[in-house]
Amino acid sequence: MKKVAFFDTKSYDKIWFDKLNKNYEITYFEEKLNHHTAKFTEGFDAVCAFVNDNINEKAIQRLRSNNVQLIAMRCAGYSNVDIKAAYENKMNVVRVPAYSPYAVAEHAMGLLMTLNRKLHKAYNRTRDFNFNITGLTGIDLHGKTVGIIGTGKIGSAFINICKGYGMEILAYDLHPSENLNIKYVDLETLLAQSDIISLHCPLTDETKHILDEKSFKLMKDGVFIINTSRGALIDSQALLDALNSGKIRGAGLDVYEEEADLFYEDNSGTVITDDTLSLLVSKPNVLLTSHQAFLTEEALHNIAEITLQNLDDFFDDKDLPNEICYLCDKNLAKKGCRGTKKERCF
Ligand code: NAD
Repeated sequence: MKKVAFFDTKSYDKIWFDKLNKNYEITYFEEKLNHHTAKFTEGFDAVCAFVNDNINEKAIQRLRSNNVQLIAMRCAGYSNVDIKAAYENKMNVVRVPAYSPYAVAEHAMGLLMTLNRKLHKAYNRTRDFNFNITGLTGIDLHGKTVGIIGTGKIGSAFINICKGYGMEILAYDLHPSENLNIKYVDLETLLAQSDIISLHCPLTDETKHILDEKSFKLMKDGVFIINTSRGALIDSQALLDALNSGKIRGAGLDVYEEEADLFYEDNSGTVITDDTLSLLVSKPNVLLTSHQAFLTEEALHNIAEITLQNLDDFFDDKDLPNEICYLCDKNLAKKGCRGTKKERCF
């Protein structure tokens, strides 16, 4: 039986992997995968990793020297994997490109609805039998313009939800979709005309700080910002400044650029030294969740099922439809390196 080292394990991961796994000996580590913990992988054939593992060049070299053959990401985003180093070290990487776009899109709308109608405050008030509604005024979302940055699987699921609310849609994407029947505009126009801006693009060199000081200046006063994608899409200090200036009506954040050492852990007994995060959390119009937009039963089931299928495909020497490859990703492959050896990059 092939051996899999499973990093950053939480109880909700184990439920589904234990239920669906038949072919692998899985060892669950609570530690995140990084160049230090990669030493645990001696004797393992594959690792299974998640969004806040730090899979840099040193970690990959250590995995390689331990004869690990595959990095199976149990998530869609892979900005935490040095895929160039993986390519150079001939380390295959697979991921779960889609497990439930609805889970993330519904969470994005949950953040917007909660912030707008101040449901988090109402909940606290009524639990204390405080039935005063002063300060809880929101706006109608019907008729408002929502600007969607990134109209892939999650972005288009969110667009459908927004359409149901009777909202006007503006979109920006490097590769506009012809099937969505929405208006694409350039980024500046989207920033200037939207009442709500929701981020659904991946984190890349081009999208890092796509919302920065300059972009906040272009926005309407009273805009809502929703980020369920990756923290570093937003320059947190610029967001803080825009919140302080009163520009922003509310910010719903499921991700934060410096989340890696904090999210998914109980830090309630710790003094948080990240002052930007502390200040963001202290704002009455900021709602922060801990990278949990994916967390539905359906998504966890699909993540386990697709990850185990990716492992089977790899070890059974089959096509690897969910492979991530540096050359393909950067469009550097001459003919696309897929197809040379089955549907695999190398
Ligand atoms: P996707 O690949 O289906 O869609 C991404 C879209 O972004 C594509 O249409 C792509 O063309 C567009 N894009 C790429 N670069 C761009 C750029 N520079 N400017 C504008 N648009 C650009 O991905 P998806 O499944 O919709 O996921 C989107 C993101 O959501 C992921 O990258 C991941 O970071 C995040 N995510 C978060 C959670 C969570 O729990 N919070 C869960 C899953 C995914």
